[in-house]
Amino acid sequence: MPPSTLAIHSPYDVEAHYSSKRSVNWVGYKVHITEACDQDCPHFITGVCTTLSTRTDDAVVDEIHQTLSQQQLLPEEHLMDAGYITSEHIVNSENNYDVNLIGPVRGNPSWQNQKNAKFSSEQFQVDWDNQVVTCPKGHQSIIWRSKIDNRGLPVVHVHFSQSDCRHCRVRKQCTHSKFARRITLQPQAKYETLQQRRQFQETLEFKKLYQQRAGVEGTLSQGVRRLGLQQSRYVGLAKTHLQHILTAIALNWIRLGAWLSGVPQAQTRQSRFMELKPKIA
Ligand code: SF4
Repeated sequence: MPPSTLAIHSPYDVEAHYSSKRSVNWVGYKVHITEACDQDCPHFITGVCTTLSTRTDDAVVDEIHQTLSQQQLLPEEHLMDAGYITSEHIVNSENNYDVNLIGPVRGNPSWQNQKNAKFSSEQFQVDWDNQVVTCPKGHQSIIWRSKIDNRGLPVVHVHFSQSDCRHCRVRKQCTHSKFARRITLQPQAKYETLQQRRQFQETLEFKKLYQQRAGVEGTLSQGVRRLGLQQSRYVGLAKTHLQHILTAIALNWIRLGAWLSGVPQAQTRQSRFMELKPKIA
């Protein structure tokens, strides 16, 4: 079988591909919705991006910002879920659009971090000016090499000395290599952003800020239940996008009407069990 990006799944619509997310499988497209979440105005939908279903979430971040920029609707802070967030997007959004991208970044997946975080790469001190890394035992790296990884992205490979690592008492907790510890670093801006975001996402401030993103799940639910967002009425990506835009306009009218009539925004429903969880002040 060819990959899903090439396989034709419907003789009526060759752009509709098979995709799956968690427990949901479908043939069709994906829609990414951006909405305002200010407390003192209706939560209008400001952006709609329709893509092939095989396109990953993080691949559309730049396109979403480009569209919002053309409409002069770029937010200062943009809350996105984990699928959209990479250190690269955080840096690029800040540099290219002056947008602070907020969302959970990926944790450090290394075995060192799982078993003994004292030896994860985050515990190594990086001196970018002198291109030297110091390990938790105070030894300095001996090789600093700029490379391009297999995805075509720049990285830095750092090697420690065999003589230091061979005699190190904590070696088994630090490396599986027969020779010496090696670490791979992203370029400075991305590396520092990732470290800073990993710390920030543990704070109460982040959790409180990020709670607001949950509102867009209600928007998707409203679109699906009230306006049939999940069912494409047309054939092809371009027309399906048009349907999504019309759906967003209708939702904005519904929201404006509710706002003018003083109907309060619905709160996210919680299970009885979740209601027992202590609230964030
Ligand atoms: S194994 Fe090498 S890099 Fe790791 S703590 Fe020991 S000396 Fe440092």
